[in-house]
Amino acid sequence: MRATMQHVPLSLNHFLERAGKLFPRTEIVSRLPDKSYVRHTYADYYRRTRQLASALLAAGLRKGDRVATLCWNHHAHLECYLGIPAAGGVMHTLNLRLSPDEIGWIAGHAEDRFLIIDDILLPLYEQFKALHSFEKVIVFPFSGAPVPAGFVDYEQLLADAPAEFDYVPHDENDPIAMCYTSGTTGRPKGVVYSHRSTVLHSLVAALPDLSALSNHDVVFPVTPMFHANSWGIPYISIMVGAKLVFPGPHLHADDLLDQMQVDPPTLSLGVPTIWLTLIQNYEANPGRWTLPAGMRSLVGGSAVPESLIRAFAKHKILIKQAWGMTETSPVATMAHTKAELAGETEDQAFARLAMQGVPVPLVDLRIVGEAGECAWNNKDVGELQVRGPYITGSYHNVEQDPEKFTDDGWLRTGDVAAVDEYAFVRLSDRTKDLIKSGGEWISSVDLENAIMAHPAVAEAAVIAVSHPKWAERPLACVVCKPGQKLDAATLREFLAPRFARWQVPDAFEFIDAIPRTSTGKFFKAKLRDRYADWQWPA
Ligand code: ADP
Repeated sequence: MRATMQHVPLSLNHFLERAGKLFPRTEIVSRLPDKSYVRHTYADYYRRTRQLASALLAAGLRKGDRVATLCWNHHAHLECYLGIPAAGGVMHTLNLRLSPDEIGWIAGHAEDRFLIIDDILLPLYEQFKALHSFEKVIVFPFSGAPVPAGFVDYEQLLADAPAEFDYVPHDENDPIAMCYTSGTTGRPKGVVYSHRSTVLHSLVAALPDLSALSNHDVVFPVTPMFHANSWGIPYISIMVGAKLVFPGPHLHADDLLDQMQVDPPTLSLGVPTIWLTLIQNYEANPGRWTLPAGMRSLVGGSAVPESLIRAFAKHKILIKQAWGMTETSPVATMAHTKAELAGETEDQAFARLAMQGVPVPLVDLRIVGEAGECAWNNKDVGELQVRGPYITGSYHNVEQDPEKFTDDGWLRTGDVAAVDEYAFVRLSDRTKDLIKSGGEWISSVDLENAIMAHPAVAEAAVIAVSHPKWAERPLACVVCKPGQKLDAATLREFLAPRFARWQVPDAFEFIDAIPRTSTGKFFKAKLRDRYADWQWPA
């Protein structure tokens, strides 16, 4: 017997058609370089996105060609998200925070044919253009200045686009976008998403137990659109017709707070470092801003300290933690409400929010320790491995590496975790960040979260430094809040009730700032380099 259902390929083009027909009056707001705002509707979006697709085809785009973007978060970047695939192309988001050498290398490795770039990023283009030559460089006049000679003007391209446009036929497994891992722990590798993987990811991540992203939301994506598809939120927002509010290049906490006054979001997203600064600036300036009470904020990319979740909860903002990777589209686990946990105390509920959440539908998850697969008992710790229809099974043009994929088809994430009996994942570290002291593992994440709960601490990162007796010992790098001072003895005393004595760092370094990666995470590899020659007192 055969199922009688129609065989219609899952397609992003459906999202675009739906947005144009169902939500033509919904707004898309972008902040421009001069800090003013420009407002479009989904009707504009529909027209402009199809014009982009039509223009790319007229420019000679062939199926599967890569079109790179080097853009901030704004409406034109959103047009690329659906316009490039509509023409059969693959949008390749380049990370503007990487060094010019890395950007050039990645564009070459992906064999990008065209580039769509913000005019304000042309100075960066000048620094990597010698490393890869694009056939066409299309400049989005983000600042409003005329596009310099020698480049294609994005607005002119759209204005001149042939009126006739038919979506390029595709299979649901055809590629639509690619993103290189940011290389926090190695050479960047390309992950290629398909119509199918992206549609499934969108449907899952929007579920009520997860982000609950709906047509009623005003979405504020602070996560860059060049980082893991801005966690898939652009696609999901278009699918449900949510209002989108983009910060453009203005990611300073004060600018974000200013923008929240103009279009108060109901859902925002970003890495923890963004929200750490935001809440500190907010609290240091009483009366200057109002926080949007009732907002949900999806926070992930690195562990979210419980103190941060509590700080926002005081203002009626729910921080929902998610865990994922470029390789996982990216949402693979997310904070989740569970009826059976309704009786938990407030403290238990906060502790749970500080965990990485539960595996989302369609994602299989297992923990593999030295003795094989671990039980979900919150104690047995091992490597987190995942499998599913929107999890990558290989990297673009890279030989299959057994360090990254198991023979039976699971992605080895390089993260170390345990799962509890309610299926909540507790991530203790990246394999490379774990500290092995006298044969015992110490979780840098647990120590960081505990240190950041001290009221005088702005940020903390804990790294392993080599030790003649214990192999490695933790070194805590701490940034104090403005006007605050701390010493090692105070922090050691603060940590004592929460950790075994041997887990507490012996050394604390008070520094001005913790270096950030290109995606805004704490850059522990840089700190390890800085303290590579650390000398312990005799
Ligand atoms: P990169 O590997 O360069 O940082 P990704 O953005 O793909 O690029 O990062 C994925 C990694 O980020 C995960 O493997 C994990 O180590 C970390 N991560 C993501 N979300 C969380 C989270 N909620 N808690 C702890 N770590 C996280």
